[in-house]
Amino acid sequence: MPIVSSLELLNRARERRCAVPAFNVDNLEMTVGVAAAAAQSGRPVIIQTIPRTLKAFGRRNYSEEFIDGGASVFASMIAAIADESGAEIGLHLDHGDCARTAAQCLEAGYTSVMLDGSMLPFEENSARTAEVVRMAHIVGAAAEGELGVIGGKEETDAKAGAYTRVDEARLFAEQTGVDSLAIAVGTAHGLYKGVPLINITRIADIRAAVNTHLVLHGASGLADGIIEATIDAGISKINFATELRQAYTRGLREGMARKEDEFDPKAYMPYAIARVREVAAVKIALCYSGWER
Ligand code: 13P
Repeated sequence: MPIVSSLELLNRARERRCAVPAFNVDNLEMTVGVAAAAAQSGRPVIIQTIPRTLKAFGRRNYSEEFIDGGASVFASMIAAIADESGAEIGLHLDHGDCARTAAQCLEAGYTSVMLDGSMLPFEENSARTAEVVRMAHIVGAAAEGELGVIGGKEETDAKAGAYTRVDEARLFAEQTGVDSLAIAVGTAHGLYKGVPLINITRIADIRAAVNTHLVLHGASGLADGIIEATIDAGISKINFATELRQAYTRGLREGMARKEDEFDPKAYMPYAIARVREVAAVKIALCYSGWER
């Protein structure tokens, strides 16, 4: 099946009180694992890449400095894998750093793009996000923005724990016209050190005030019950990266250990694909557990 509209997937999930799982991939094997899990489940997913992943596969100059590209490599690869697998897959730019990266992804066939201006002052974030929303809508794609400081890599000491405010979320959605909004409610990217405290009430309050789809970042390591509570409160897209990267690396190590004398990637890559597929299958079942209710 060709790459499908991310927004259509979000709309359908929300109608059923579910969320679309959005998986970050860094290479072909991770993509194959996610697509296989999606195909087997019969449920749609979003596959997403961050700018650093695109840069790793982009064009370089003679000093090995990144110049450009990468988006078309991933768009072609993911479209081909989606086609082969028969799974319904939307393609998204996660944590887009500027309008230029977003434009390259849209040109390559991404069906949604994010502009992460969450570290900027409100008005600047709003203006830059609105620009990307306009670009995305011109080509029939969707756009995600972010408000508040999600913990982990984005965190600064000064702003740590700054939850998204309801009044700001409403104003931001109005000013930018975003299709989806990533909100800060206590989650963090990467590994949690303790048990995170997720503000479910804040999700519900924002949901009541804003019609835009709400996105939960930093879902790796959250308990299943918490994830279900965030969906019930109004989240319709959930991002998983760290747990997938761990699964890939675990599988790769396992494959290499089992095939110690092998040098052919075809001998050990299947382990990496299998581990990614298993984790993705669990997250898909969790995000769509409300489908039959
Ligand atoms: P995790 O790495 O915690 O899964 O977060 C993923 C994410 O939010 C990507 O944007």
